[in-house]
This record gives sequence, structure tokens and C-alpha cells, in this order.
Amino acid sequence: MNTDNPNNDLSSDDSANDSSANNSLSENSAPGHLMPSAEDLQKYFQTAAFTVSAAKLTQCPANVGLEVAFAGRSNAGKSSAINRLTGQKKLARISKTPGRTQLINFFGLRDEQRLVDLPGYGYAKVALAKKLEWQKHLEQYLEKRSSLTGLVLVMDVRHPLQPFDSIMLDWVKQYETHCHILLTKADKLKRGPAMQALFEVQKAVKDQEHTSVQLFSATNGTGLEEARETLFSWLHPQE
Ligand code: GDP
Repeated sequence: MNTDNPNNDLSSDDSANDSSANNSLSENSAPGHLMPSAEDLQKYFQTAAFTVSAAKLTQCPANVGLEVAFAGRSNAGKSSAINRLTGQKKLARISKTPGRTQLINFFGLRDEQRLVDLPGYGYAKVALAKKLEWQKHLEQYLEKRSSLTGLVLVMDVRHPLQPFDSIMLDWVKQYETHCHILLTKADKLKRGPAMQALFEVQKAVKDQEHTSVQLFSATNGTGLEEARETLFSWLHPQE
């Protein structure tokens, strides 16, 4: 996010004005990383295609290559973020299909690279037993999946750092995974309050290694390029 942007409007549309446009790499990028153009990044993420749903670790695709997983409380905006990042309006709908909501859904990119939609942490209505089961599978996934290179933690910018998010941040710390926080629905706030929320979350995670934060909006594309760059750098550490 370019805080010096004189444009006081948070809105931006896809690659055109994704210029919260920051041509620099995000904090999580590998040094010396050669970043493709916005257009090439868009094309790369557009290749995402559903491959498989897994109820447990043994059903996941082979643990080779690299993958980036998305987590968030239900309704935080995770599916919308995945759809926007991949430029595919319906991609994450698969994860919303009844029966698939508790599954880990895999979307293949090129060459053994994957995006992974982790089950949304349910509404209060979900029975405790279900929550514990979810927690067990998710923790196993985070612990054992060596191809997991980073976690995107999606939070509603108006309600960041809920108890679920803290659990995820603790896990990220424990398993030493990169973490990039998308404060989404940024279009719902004016610039001042949105920046305030960004600063507060940045402050809260400042001591947490490999963790970065940005504003995002699936609706108007705020922060889209920054998010794509971060994910790309995780998936291409040597380039
Ligand atoms: P999920 O349960 O985390 O996958 O959340 P969804 O992606 O289904 O989003 C939940 C609700 O928030 C839906 O009504 C979306 O249309 C809305 N939403 C998601 N992202 C944004 C955003 O960036 N801006 C706005 N205004 N609404 C959003």
C-alpha cells in the first residue's frame, strides 16, 4: 500500500489502477525477485482450476511443489478474494457447495503450484464437535504440509483480529509459515478509517516474523496487484 498516494480515494480497478500501485515488492517477497508485469500476474492467477477436495490430510494432492492457503472466518470475504485474485467469478463457489464447506479445496496453477481454500471457520451455530474436528484437520494440514509456503489470512477490515484470527496467527508462528493478512472489504470504509485499521493490525503483528498486512477489496480491486505479487513471490522463491 502506498501511503503517499495523493489520491484520496481507495478505489481502484483491477490492474489498471491497482496502483495502490506500488511497484515495489511486498515485505514478504524474496530479495532480488523478478516480478512479472501486472498483466502477466493476472494471466498466471487466471490459470487456477479446481482439482480436488479433501476431508483429511491423506486425501490432499501429493505434497510436492508449493501452495498458498487461504483461511478466514465465514463471511470475512475469503471466497470473493480468491475469485478476484484469480479473475474467476465462480472459482471459489465450489468451496461453498453444501457438503464441501468443511473440505480443503485445491486449485491448481501452473507447474505444481496450488491455491488452497481452507474451510471457513463456521458461524456460532456450528456444533462444538464440528469445530473441534475442523480444528484438528486444519492443524494437521498446517503442521504436515511441507509444500505450504504461505497463508493468506482474510479478515473483514471492520472486524479484524477476532479470536479465530489469533489462533491462526499462533499457528503461523509455530509452523514458521509466511503470512499475509488481507484486510478486505476496504471499499466499505473511507480512507482514514481504513488506514487506521491497517496501522492497528500492522502494530499488532509487528513482532511476528514473515507477516505482512494490506488493505484489499474484492469489489473494487484495491490492493489486488500487491496481493498477487506477494503470492507470486512465495510460489516462485528462486526467480
Ligand atoms: P467467505 O464466507 O469468507 O467466503 O465470504 P464471501 O466471499 O462469501 O463474502 C461474504 C459477503 O461479503 C458476501 O456478501 C460478499 O459479497 C461480501 N464481500 C466480500 N468481499 C467484499 C468486498 O471486498 N467488498 C464488499 N463491499 N463486500 C464484499
